[in-house]
Amino acid sequence: MLDMLKVNTLLIAMLSLTVVYGQTTSLGSLKSLNDFKESYIPLLSRYEIKTAEVKSGQGLYQALKDVGLENAMSLEIINTLRDEVEFSKLKLGDKLQAKYNEHNELVECMYSQVPSDKHIVRWNAKKASWDYVFKEERTHWYSRIISGELKKGSTLQADLLAKGLEPQVVNEIVQVLLCKVNFRMYARMGDKYDVLLSERLFNKKIIGTKVLYTSYSGRKAGNYKAYYYEDAEKGSTYSAHYTASGQALINAGLRYPLKRLHVRSTFGWRRHPVTGRKAMHRGVDLRGRTGAPVYAVASGKVIISTYNKYAGNKIGIRHKDGSSSYYYHLKRRGVRKGQWVRTHELIGNVGSTGRVTGPHLHFGFKTRRGKWMNPLNKRMIATPKLKGKRFEALTAQVAGLNGLLVDLEVSKVAKYLVERIPNLRDESSFDWLNVFSFTAHASSLKDD
Ligand SMILES: [Zn+2]
Repeated sequence: MLDMLKVNTLLIAMLSLTVVYGQTTSLGSLKSLNDFKESYIPLLSRYEIKTAEVKSGQGLYQALKDVGLENAMSLEIINTLRDEVEFSKLKLGDKLQAKYNEHNELVECMYSQVPSDKHIVRWNAKKASWDYVFKEERTHWYSRIISGELKKGSTLQADLLAKGLEPQVVNEIVQVLLCKVNFRMYARMGDKYDVLLSERLFNKKIIGTKVLYTSYSGRKAGNYKAYYYEDAEKGSTYSAHYTASGQALINAGLRYPLKRLHVRSTFGWRRHPVTGRKAMHRGVDLRGRTGAPVYAVASGKVIISTYNKYAGNKIGIRHKDGSSSYYYHLKRRGVRKGQWVRTHELIGNVGSTGRVTGPHLHFGFKTRRGKWMNPLNKRMIATPKLKGKRFEALTAQVAGLNGLLVDLEVSKVAKYLVERIPNLRDESSFDWLNVFSFTAHASSLKDD
C-alpha cells in the first residue's frame, strides 16, 4: 500500500504542467426556447452536463475547470469530497462530470477514480449545502495465480512485467519479497515464485488488484511466504503483508501516527483550504476523528509542545538519527517539552485547533539536515508484529488463502481437462480457472 502511495505521490508530482481541453455535452441547447415556454420543456432539457477526464499535466483544480468550475466552487466541491476520496490517488483518465441548471448554477458534480464507483456531490436547496452520495455498480473479485521460474539472465521484476502485471503491482510484490530475499546475492536460475492476485472486474476490465499471497523459493535464497492481512476496519494501517507468524514484511521505518491512513491533502504546493491562496504544504493532512489517538512515529525527545494560532496544539519530536516529526491541530497534548517518548507512544489526540476547516492530523517530517520532506516517502508500518485478535484474524485468513491456493491448483488440472473437451473449447481459459476457484470459495470472495 505504501508503494502505491509512493507511485501516486510521484504521479501527482508529474501532474503539474498544463491543461489540454475539455468537452461539453449540451442537453440545454434550446435555451432561447426555454425562455419562451419554459413550463413545456421536459425537465431534462433544462440541465447542461459537462464531462471531462483528468489529462496529462492536470491537477484537480485544472480538471474541474474543464467542466466549468471556478476556483472558489472547486474548493467547495473538493472540501466536500476530501473525507471520502483520497485525491492523492488522482490519475489520468479519472472522470469528472458537472450538471448545471437553467440559471447556469452547478447542481451536481461527479468524480470517478474507478469506472464502477461514483462520488457525487449534490446541491441540497433545502439545507443550502452540498450532500455527498456514493454510487457503486456491481463488481466481482476473482482470484488468479501466477507462477514462474527465473530463467537465465531474468529477474523476478522483469518476469512479472512480461506476464502483463501493472508496474505498481510488480513493485508491491518485489518490495514484500525484498524484506526476506537478497535477490542481488542469492537469486538463481530456476528459482520458483507464486503470486495469488485478487482482481476486481467491471465490464470485463480489471479495475483493481490485491496481492493476496506471494511465495519465493530458491536453492540459495531459501523459501518464503507472505500473506496479505486485511484488517476488519476499513482503511486500517494494519492491512499489509505479513509472514504466517505475523511478522510485518516491510523494511521497517516509522510507525504510523494514526490507526487509519486516509490522506486528505498531500505534501507540496496546493490551494489552502481556508485562505484559498496557493501555498506550500509542508506535511500531509490525515483524516482522523476528534479524539483519535496520535502516536509517536519513532522514539525520541519532545522538542516542541505548545499552542500556536495556525498549527493549534503542536508537538515536535527529534529522533535518534536527527530527523524530526511534527503533529499539528491536536485536541490535547499528552507530552511536555524535554520529555522522552518511546516508538508508538500515545502523545495526544486528533483535534481541530488552529487554522483548520475540520478535525485532522497535520503530520510533518524533517530530515536530519532540517529539510521538510514528504512523510509519505518514508516507509511506514503499523506494527512489526501482529498480536492478539489481529494475529488470530491473520491465522484465519492464512488458512483461507492456503485453501484457495490448493483449489486453484486443482482447477488448473480441471482446466487442462476441460480444454481437451472439444465442445467446451470456446470458453476462455481465464473463466474456467475462476469458475472452479469461485464455486469453492464463494464466501471468501465477497462482492465489493
Ligand atoms: Zn496540513
